[in-house]
Amino acid sequence: MTSTVHNPAELLRDTLEEQFRTHTDQLTELTVFSRQPDLGGYDRDTLNGLIASARQGVADAAQALRRMSEGTYGICERCQASIPVGRLEILPHARFCVPCQQKQVG
Ligand SMILES: [Zn+2]
Repeated sequence: MTSTVHNPAELLRDTLEEQFRTHTDQLTELTVFSRQPDLGGYDRDTLNGLIASARQGVADAAQALRRMSEGTYGICERCQASIPVGRLEILPHARFCVPCQQKQVG
């Protein structure tokens, strides 16, 4: 294996593109299940929950990729502070820094 030095932004873009593809595939698959008489073996509530979270995953990844192309990626939408790379590596679609995220939820 050759080791290539990537900058964090490239790695995060790869991660987000991967996330976008994975969730799109999931959403497609779950939508097919939802049209089958046996719902692919799921119960309706579980399936709806999975569809909602796959849809959210697609939206999160798409929004983050758009912010990357606009040059606003990694900047907190609330206080405009830079979001630490360590946080973005854990949560690549993060829109807020940790303190703002906590205020947002609470
Ligand atoms: Zn903030």
